[in-house]
Amino acid sequence: MYDAWMYRRRLMKKRRNCGAARRLLCGLLLCGMALPWLAGTGLQAQATSQAAPKSAPTAESIREKEKEISQIKEQKEGLKDGLSDLQEIKKNLELQKDNLKNYVKELDASLEQIEARIADLLEQIDAKEGEIVEAQAQLEAARKREEDQQEAMTAHIRLTYESGDPSVADLLLGAGSLGEFLNRMDYMEKIVSSDVRMWEDYKAAKEYVALCKEGLELEKEILDETRESVEIEQKNLEELIEQKNRDIISYETDISNKENAIREYEAEIKAQEEEIRMLEAAVAEERRQLIESSGSAMTYDGGVFKFPLASYTRVSDDYGMRIHPTLGVEQFHNGVDFASATGTAIFAAYDGKVVAAAYNATMGNYVMIDHGDGLSTIYMHASALYVSKGDVVARGDTIAAVGSTGRSTGSHLHFSVRLNGSYVSPWAYLSL
Ligand SMILES: [Zn+2]
Repeated sequence: MYDAWMYRRRLMKKRRNCGAARRLLCGLLLCGMALPWLAGTGLQAQATSQAAPKSAPTAESIREKEKEISQIKEQKEGLKDGLSDLQEIKKNLELQKDNLKNYVKELDASLEQIEARIADLLEQIDAKEGEIVEAQAQLEAARKREEDQQEAMTAHIRLTYESGDPSVADLLLGAGSLGEFLNRMDYMEKIVSSDVRMWEDYKAAKEYVALCKEGLELEKEILDETRESVEIEQKNLEELIEQKNRDIISYETDISNKENAIREYEAEIKAQEEEIRMLEAAVAEERRQLIESSGSAMTYDGGVFKFPLASYTRVSDDYGMRIHPTLGVEQFHNGVDFASATGTAIFAAYDGKVVAAAYNATMGNYVMIDHGDGLSTIYMHASALYVSKGDVVARGDTIAAVGSTGRSTGSHLHFSVRLNGSYVSPWAYLSL
């Protein structure tokens, strides 16, 4: 049917086509995307290793892919189970309510958990968006290779039969559709069995690509549901913050509890003072040792403080004697409260060293910075802390984010300045 030259060409072409098939498969292997495993109560993303076929997609590799897809479906089901159960959180909190300090601490812990979950979900969304972009590119590449292969195969068949019996070529190439073409190929199976095998490989590859696409679409659905989960968690967070505000206020304004509330408040402030004083004692001791060993310690050069917030709406409670906003009695307020949105950056007012970056039931997440010469600043109620004890900070460094942790009924920064063991007006150091 063909001469020796044609036979060699056919062999070469076949080898080239095999190369194309191998390249197609490489693309398909990449199609195995990292999928998140959203199981149980945790929503941690976990890459699943997808079994990629070592040779042409086979019935087995396709079954494997189908199994993976059913696994993704299961993960999808598990997503909702991982959300914070607000009712459960509230029920547990109710048990703590007779002790406001413990109650606030528990509330803050729940808030922190939800915030962490939101951060986790956002991270998952980020990762998944990246995966989907990558997978889509791979899918496109696989489709392109599939087309190339089809073209190469058609050219191959044309070349093989063009020089043979014209009626065979007409029969095959005159077919109206690819399916019809195949039927005719089938008919000629004995002559063209190697081409049919190639076609079968091609068909399996196509099926595999289609399954990759199905997996990708499922990933997209999970992404959408993860977005929904973030919204639910954010709603839970807002609800919990609102509840905290309501509870602190109702606790303190309850007439029958008022005296207890004032007593408790004073005890809490005393405990807070105690904590600050201990920190200052440690600073003084360190300073003494430094001077003893090296003869020098940090000094404050008298410079003006940087305003400690990126933005704020108003002074919600000023420094000095004032009627306590919820207790209704005259109390000394040892700092300035700046009402500001949760997450707003808090800046170090001046160069110094972080003495404390911790949680306290009244101060919430707080930072204390020693500026030398007995001068320090304290930043309270943060939603996040970005420094640790011992860190050296410069004026204007972001050290925390505004929040409403601790004894706080709204998002704000409480900013205190201490000089030689006493509170002083922050306004003496601040410039607006
Ligand atoms: Zn305050």
